[in-house]
Amino acid sequence: MIADEGRARMPFSVLQDDLNALDEKGLRRRRRTLDSAQSAHVVVEGKQCVAFCSNDYLGLANHPALIAAAQAGANAYGVGAGASHLLLGHARAHAQLEDALAAFVGMPRALLFSTGYMANLGIITALLGRDDAVFADRLNHASLNDACLLARAQFRRYAHNDMAHLEQLLVATRANRKLIVADAVFSMDGDMARVPELLALAERFDAWLMLDDAHGFGVLGAGGRGVLEHFAVQHPRIIYMATLGKAAGVFGAFAAGDDTLIETLMQRARTYIYTTAMPPLLACAVSKSLELIASGASLRKQLAGNIIKLKQIIANDLPQRWRLLPSITAIQPLVIGDNRAATGVAEKLAQCGVLVPAIRPPTVPQGTARLRISLSAAHTDRDLHALADALVDAGKAFH
Ligand code: PMP
Repeated sequence: MIADEGRARMPFSVLQDDLNALDEKGLRRRRRTLDSAQSAHVVVEGKQCVAFCSNDYLGLANHPALIAAAQAGANAYGVGAGASHLLLGHARAHAQLEDALAAFVGMPRALLFSTGYMANLGIITALLGRDDAVFADRLNHASLNDACLLARAQFRRYAHNDMAHLEQLLVATRANRKLIVADAVFSMDGDMARVPELLALAERFDAWLMLDDAHGFGVLGAGGRGVLEHFAVQHPRIIYMATLGKAAGVFGAFAAGDDTLIETLMQRARTYIYTTAMPPLLACAVSKSLELIASGASLRKQLAGNIIKLKQIIANDLPQRWRLLPSITAIQPLVIGDNRAATGVAEKLAQCGVLVPAIRPPTVPQGTARLRISLSAAHTDRDLHALADALVDAGKAFH
């Protein structure tokens, strides 16, 4: 009886043990609460800060033209989509946006998803089953890994950007359908997939190639059209996916590619079929964002300048044991190593009003906890110097 009462009082004590273990390993995650719009300059819990945390690479998340487009969208369509795309949740604004996205990335057709996570789950599970195999870069985003597991296909992971390893795995497979999948820009390392070589292997082994361009869309390529523009590649066997909550500054995601492929996704992708459509007002905002991206050469130039400047400013002043990874993108990871040291440095920066997230396992491999510095076109020289100064101070404190 007493034992039963004990159980009734603490039904989740086993979970509390897990949380305590996270604390012990320095892996417990905490949120900060934002009191302002997302931007390079934010108010967090009442304090004015410079933020290097968001994926709002072009500074569009709080752009007046996008706000106006969302407001006009709300006036035209209301607030909620009210239904899934296939059950009258698909508004004219969605249809127009899909056409605009397909044209923008140079693909025959596009399909909107509510988030990038859902797009990845939906695409891979719609295309593969038990008799098939997926070949995934070891540093791919969690949503791609989850999708591969959910598809129940053979899940083969190749060493990061290691084309020889990928080739070995492709030689060895007897699977029916084959899919190679990679982040175009790796979200925690900032480096890029070797797209031309991936495509050559896909052709040679008659595999499909899926690229998750979450961090390239809007910023890579002279026109911001993403990774395919950057590498000047186009091919019917490419399954392109990008998110709309990062450089595009809004929310959602899309897949683009061959007409038969997209029709199949519409018929089979469960995260497309069984969920409420993205509110049409967001589709209106994304359409406006596409226009700003298309004419956004100066924003991309500003961002590229910030990437170069940051490297120059911090090149010589950081502790030797910290390692800035060789990234040419807006994601500039500074590997600290130890989990507690990484969170300690992030805390120290926050005290100076500079916010940079500490990324720890399992998001990154053990022993490679890091500060993930995300740059934006909206950062000024002063912001970059504030970051550099705070890093130098923190470097002295964490000797
Ligand atoms: N893919 C990659 C590479 C990402 O970095 C992310 C977001 N962190 C996603 C997919 C998921 O996108 P969303 O946030 O729209 O769900």
